[in-house]
Amino acid sequence: MDVIKGHDFFMMKRKYFLQTIALAAIAGSVTKLKGLNMFTKELGNTEKMPVLFIGHGSPMNAIEENEFVTGWRNVGNTLPKPNAILCISAHWETRGTLVTAMEKPTTIHDFGGFPKELFDVHYPAPGSPELAKETKDTIKKTEVGLDEKWGLDHGAWSIIRRLYPNADIPVVQLSLDYYQSPQYHYELGKELASLRNKGVLIIGSGNLVHNLRMVAWDKLNTIGYGFDWAIEADNKMKKFIIDGNHKELVNYKAQGSAFNLAIPTPEHFLPLLYILALQEKNEKLSIFNDKTVAGSLTMTSVKIG
Ligand code: ZN
Repeated sequence: MDVIKGHDFFMMKRKYFLQTIALAAIAGSVTKLKGLNMFTKELGNTEKMPVLFIGHGSPMNAIEENEFVTGWRNVGNTLPKPNAILCISAHWETRGTLVTAMEKPTTIHDFGGFPKELFDVHYPAPGSPELAKETKDTIKKTEVGLDEKWGLDHGAWSIIRRLYPNADIPVVQLSLDYYQSPQYHYELGKELASLRNKGVLIIGSGNLVHNLRMVAWDKLNTIGYGFDWAIEADNKMKKFIIDGNHKELVNYKAQGSAFNLAIPTPEHFLPLLYILALQEKNEKLSIFNDKTVAGSLTMTSVKIG
């Protein structure tokens, strides 16, 4: 009969302890893997999701009723229910590309001078660390960072809450690398293509024509009021979009004075390039909410697929 001495007993206990730890670690990763598999399974093999570019305009569109909001709801009703949403918003510019990876993104009120009612809005959609990781793994062009600090800015929540008022679809945001060229953003957009087959609704949120310094403040709520250059730029952009002439849009800086006024800074325009980059050959495209507002903004929005 073996006599277990104190030392051996300790060693056995230690061995047992280590085994338990190892098992727990395996169990942990199995759970994690299971979670990831479940996600991939959930996301896998769906019909190709449409993609959207939405002109978000004033943050007040988050709470007011107007024809743009109706347009968002209408397009929302045409979409299959997504497994998750990936939003590229004009309002998140960073060095490098980041993706929000928290479980519970906070609602960011990234504006000032609006009524309290707007600051009271919270959009409690969950995040999706799994989609964040999947997005990071999918993008090869750059090392995408997993972000725990951002949340949902108004470029994302002001429109998504109109599409999915129950806040039951997980949302992640992908940032715009401030230091990169339009061509770079267009190519990065192409790398997101596989997510469309996993039930991910990709939304670009900005405005085609967006010049806040030239806003006609007395015509802030006048839908259809647009300066000549704003109308000209929007019409040319729409023609390029309809013709599938993405090259001219990527080279927007070479399009002359109307474009220069329409795109004084790139952040509201670049989300469009991500969305156009995802258009497959002969894929259906429709334009909605194509109206000017306040002289120097257009709400023109695009659905592909
Ligand atoms: Zn904006």
